[in-house]
Amino acid sequence: MPRPVLLIHGGAGDIGDSRVAGKFKGIKDALRAAWPQLAAGKSNAMDAVETAVRSMELDEAFNAGYGACLNTAGEVELEASFMEGHELRAGCITLLRDIMHPITVARRLLEQRRHVFLGGEAALKLALSTCSEQLAPGSLVTPSAQQALAEFKQQQAKGADTTYARTELDALRTDPSGDTVGAVALDMQGLIAVGTSTGGITGKWPGRIGDTPVLGSGTYADNLMGGVSTTGHGETLMRYNLAQRILAAMQHQQLSAQAAAEQECQRMTARLGGTGGAIVVDPQGELGISFTSRRMAWGYVSDGVIHYGINQQEMLQEPFDLA
Ligand code: ASP
Repeated sequence: MPRPVLLIHGGAGDIGDSRVAGKFKGIKDALRAAWPQLAAGKSNAMDAVETAVRSMELDEAFNAGYGACLNTAGEVELEASFMEGHELRAGCITLLRDIMHPITVARRLLEQRRHVFLGGEAALKLALSTCSEQLAPGSLVTPSAQQALAEFKQQQAKGADTTYARTELDALRTDPSGDTVGAVALDMQGLIAVGTSTGGITGKWPGRIGDTPVLGSGTYADNLMGGVSTTGHGETLMRYNLAQRILAAMQHQQLSAQAAAEQECQRMTARLGGTGGAIVVDPQGELGISFTSRRMAWGYVSDGVIHYGINQQEMLQEPFDLA
């Protein structure tokens, strides 16, 4: 019987120092919300993923649900995906408005076993018919998201290049501010589940769809291979198909989850310029955490200790308590 694992991230990017404390708090809150039940065998991998992601969607420190970043029109368009690794069921949601928890809508789609990907009005309809509450327009918009959009527009007015990067040297230009959230869990039954939720990137065109709801890029789960949730510059991650490449490196090159995540994040950035990161859990519960952006918030609990970090080569630890 595998030991349960829950590994989460709070986004890869050029995250300013002033936002680090809020990220750490949000990571710990999400682990407190989801881990005890999973560790005790009282919830399965899907419940743990949904609970952890919902916690971060509520937290304005993250670019998901409340606090999601804004498109050029100043609006929130949400995206999420959910996948389980036993039957490979999946639910992917895009261009969803005014719903606090897109991850739950993605899970409802997965459970219905009819379609895999829904967008816009159809996604909203599913949300409302499966008990999500429709918020008043603008409810998810925060002052800091508005400020980030204003700064983006100033940069654009100064002639900043917003095409995607071509070389590693261009990478900083497309290093988004980060904050997308994701979770990968393995439960005692050997089920792997993965969920990822985002508002995309600040200043995206209305209607832009990123990597987060795309299987193989933002999310993938297969009990026989492992689970991956990614974050970073979506146009880069989609073109590289990061999640799937990490799992392929584990399967065909016999690399560990950690070695595969490092290899593929680095190859992606060397080849395409854009940056990103990934969290990985293999079927034995071994972890992989890697990113080529300046920072990526992540965390997990093991033997009563929270392990977390945000900088390269960093692992902070403290006792896991429920306070
Ligand atoms: N990957 C997300 C997107 O481009 C952004 C992020 O991970 O922060 O939509």
